Amino acid sequence: MKMIIAQYCGFCYGVKRAVAMAEECIGKPGEIHTLGPIIHNPQIVKRLSDDGISVVNDLSQINDNSTVIIRSHGVGPEVYTQAHSKNLQIIDATCPHVKKAQQAAHQFLKDGYRVVVIGEKHHPEVKSIVEWSDNTALVVETVADAISLSTYSRIGVVAQTTFSGDVFQEIVDCLQEKCDELKVSRTICTATDLRQQAALELASKVNVMIVVGGRNSANTSRLMQLCSDAGSVAYHIETAQELMLENFEGVQTVGITAGASTPDYLIEEVCKKMQEFDEMLDNGLKELVQDSIIKGTVVGVRQGEVFVDIGYKAEGIIALSELAYPVPENATDVVSNGQIIDVYVLDAETHDGVIKLSKVKADQIVAWDKLESALREEKAVAGKVVEAVKGGLKVIVLGVNGFIPASMVELGFTEDLTPFVNQTFMMMPIEVDPIKKRVVLSRKVLLEQERQRREEVLFATLAVGQCLTGTVRRIVDFGAFVDIGGIDGLIHISDLSWHRIKTPNEVVSVGDEVQVTVLKIDSAAKRISLSLKKAGSDPWLDVVQQFSINKIVTAKISKITTFGAFAELVPGIEGLIHVSEMSEERVNKVEDIVSLGEEVTVKILDINTENKRIALSISKAKEDTDRAEYRDYLGTQEGTGLTLGDKFAHLFKRGD
Ligand code: SF4
Repeated sequence: MKMIIAQYCGFCYGVKRAVAMAEECIGKPGEIHTLGPIIHNPQIVKRLSDDGISVVNDLSQINDNSTVIIRSHGVGPEVYTQAHSKNLQIIDATCPHVKKAQQAAHQFLKDGYRVVVIGEKHHPEVKSIVEWSDNTALVVETVADAISLSTYSRIGVVAQTTFSGDVFQEIVDCLQEKCDELKVSRTICTATDLRQQAALELASKVNVMIVVGGRNSANTSRLMQLCSDAGSVAYHIETAQELMLENFEGVQTVGITAGASTPDYLIEEVCKKMQEFDEMLDNGLKELVQDSIIKGTVVGVRQGEVFVDIGYKAEGIIALSELAYPVPENATDVVSNGQIIDVYVLDAETHDGVIKLSKVKADQIVAWDKLESALREEKAVAGKVVEAVKGGLKVIVLGVNGFIPASMVELGFTEDLTPFVNQTFMMMPIEVDPIKKRVVLSRKVLLEQERQRREEVLFATLAVGQCLTGTVRRIVDFGAFVDIGGIDGLIHISDLSWHRIKTPNEVVSVGDEVQVTVLKIDSAAKRISLSLKKAGSDPWLDVVQQFSINKIVTAKISKITTFGAFAELVPGIEGLIHVSEMSEERVNKVEDIVSLGEEVTVKILDINTENKRIALSISKAKEDTDRAEYRDYLGTQEGTGLTLGDKFAHLFKRGD
C-alpha cells in the first residue's frame, strides 16, 4: 500500500504560532486560561489543560489579575476592554491574517461602507470580525444569502480567512449587483487555499483519503467535503485509534491530509498506524492491534459472556459488564449467534486462548462519533429517559449518558418530569463533548420544529370563513387562545358571545372543545383571529322567529342614555326606546320615565336584521293596550251612561 501525504497539511502559521504562545505560558505563575479552545483540536486542548491552561468561555469565569490567551480566531474590541478592566495579562494569539480582516471591517465602517462579512455565521472568527464593525456587519454565507440582501450605495467586503475561494467569488459577483460601489478585501488566507488545493489534487490520485483533524474544525470538515466531492473514499478521523484495518484491505494508494489545526504528532501517529496495517495486510495475517475497533461475528452466547470470532487464531470474549450499558441481566438480551458487531480490543494478548473484547467501549466510541455528527448535521437521535432529577431528565442515547435540562423538555415549562421516566423519544443533541463525556439534548427543539412545520401547513391551507374544531388552551382578559391543530388562534372577547360578557370565563374554560370560524389571517405576524359566535347560531335569527313588528312584549331596561333607553328582550338582545317613544307627554329626562332594571311593556316598532337594531316604544304599547281595553269596554259597558270621551279622552285628542 502506497501512502502519500498532501504537500500542504497540518498546522498553519497562525495555529502553530497560537499553540507555541500558549505552550510558552506553561509553568508561569498565576491562573492561565484560553478564551475558548485555543484551536479546533480536542487533543491539543486536553494537553494544555493537563498542563494547567484551561478553557473558559467568558471573561467573567476568570479571576482578576490572571492571564488570558486569545486564540487565533480573535475577539471583538469589547473583550480587550473587559480584560483591561479586570487587570488581566493578555497573550494575544490572534492570527495576523484574522487581525487584517478585523481591521478591514473596522476601516470599512469608518469610511461609511455597509460591511459584509462572507463566512459561516456562527464561526468565532466571523463573530470577532463582526464585532470590529461595531456589530453592524451583515454576514453572508451563501449565494442565496447575497441575493436576498437589500441594495446599498457602498458595500465593503471582508472574508472569513478559511472560507472557500470559489464560493467567495460567486458571492462577490452577486454583491456587485447590490450596490453602486463595491470594495473587496479578500482576506482568505493562502494556508487554507493551499491545503484545499493539495487535498483535491491528492484525492484524485489515490483510492482512499484519510483526513485528520478535529470534528469541530471548519477547515478540516471542508477538506473532508472536498475529498468526498472529488469522488474519493474519505475517512475523517481525529486520532490514529479510529483507523480500522478492514477499510484498507485491497487498497493500493492512501492519501493523508490534515486540517490547519492538526498537530504534526497526530499525523505521524496516523502514518505509523497505516504502516502497521500495511505490514499486516502484506503478510496476509490479521494481527490484533490493542485499543483498536474491529468487526467480529458472535459465535456463542452464554448468560454471562459472549464469544466472538474476530478472524484471529484465538476467539474473543466479551464479559457481561463489557456487553452493554446499563449492564444487562442476560447476554442473550443483547446479542445472538451469527450477529456481526463492532468490538474494542481491550487486551491483544491471549489469555487461556481468548482475547478480551468490549462491545460497550466500541459502541461508545462509535456513539460519540454518531453524536458528534448528529450535532453537526442537526439530526435527532433516539434516547430513553432513565431518571427525573431536579434540573431535568437523565437519558441514555446510543449507550451514552445524556441530560435534557428541564427547560428543554417541553415547549412550555413542565414542573413534574416523572411521567417521562422510561419513555423513549427522539431528541436533538445541543452539546456534545467527548472529552468531558458530556451530552446535552433537547426535546423542545424538535417540538418547536414540529410546531413550525404544522404552522406552515396550517397557514398554507387556512382560509377566512373556514369552520374548525379547536381546544381552548389559555384564557386571558381580552379573549381565549384556541389550539386549532398545533397553533393557537385568538378569539377576542367580543367574538366569544353574541351577548355582552365581562370575562371570557363566562363562555369558555381551558380544555373546552369549541367550533370556531376563521375571521382573519396574518401570515407575516403569524396571527389568526377566530370567532366563536360566528360558528354558533345567531340569536338574531331567534329574534326574527320569536318577535314580530307590532308585537307587545315586556323588556328590562339595561342602559339609559340621553336619547333614550335600551331594553333587553331576551338575554343579549336589546332594543332602543327612543326618548320620543317613551311617553305621549314631553320627556325632559329619560330617568323620569324609566330606571335601570325596570321591566317595561313595549311595542316592537321595527326589526332591522341587517343592522341588528330593534326599535321599541313604550307610548305605542300603552296606546295599544288602552285601545284593547276600549274595545273590551265597548263589548261589556253598553248602556252605563258614560260617554266614550269621558273614558278615553286622551285617544280622541290624538284623533284616533
Ligand atoms: S488558517 Fe490562515 S488565518 Fe487561519 S489561523 Fe491559519 S494562518 Fe491564520
